[in-house]
Amino acid sequence: MGQPVINPDIYRRLEEFLAGKGLRRTRQRDVIIEAAFSTTDHFTADELWERARQLDPAASRATLYRTLSLLVESGLLREIDLGMQQTCYDPNFVDHPRHNHLICSDCRKIVEFEDKHLNLLEDCISRRLGFQPQSTSLRIEASCETLRTMGVCEERKKSGGR
Ligand SMILES: [Zn+2]
Ligand SMILES: [Zn+2]
Repeated sequence: MGQPVINPDIYRRLEEFLAGKGLRRTRQRDVIIEAAFSTTDHFTADELWERARQLDPAASRATLYRTLSLLVESGLLREIDLGMQQTCYDPNFVDHPRHNHLICSDCRKIVEFEDKHLNLLEDCISRRLGFQPQSTSLRIEASCETLRTMGVCEERKKSGGR
């Protein structure tokens, strides 16, 4: 594995956030952060754990969970519902704060998308009802092209259903 390139903005925002709580970056936390943001894939806590252990066999599971909740609280990482049994974490909201997900209902393949019409619509609806929009994320369940043309997705076995 090469050195992952992590958006320096993430470290800057993280340090600000930690400082506000009287915390600082530690080697242990950095391993989790590196594991979380060296990918654009969505991941579960277990998947993050696998990656963290590859980076540092001494990684601690307690630190993993504590760091995960710090990252979610800081807004750098978002918990998302992808219709799976486990909570998924999404590292892409820093770069794409208004992205949404299209999910194949068979193989669970995930495609991220942004659409300014959707943003406009969300703003309009919120304002009309007297709210100020903060965050929204749309999940569209659909069938991918493979499913439509072949009747079944290649990756179905791998995903193990819902
Ligand atoms: Zn996403
Ligand atoms: Zn599919």
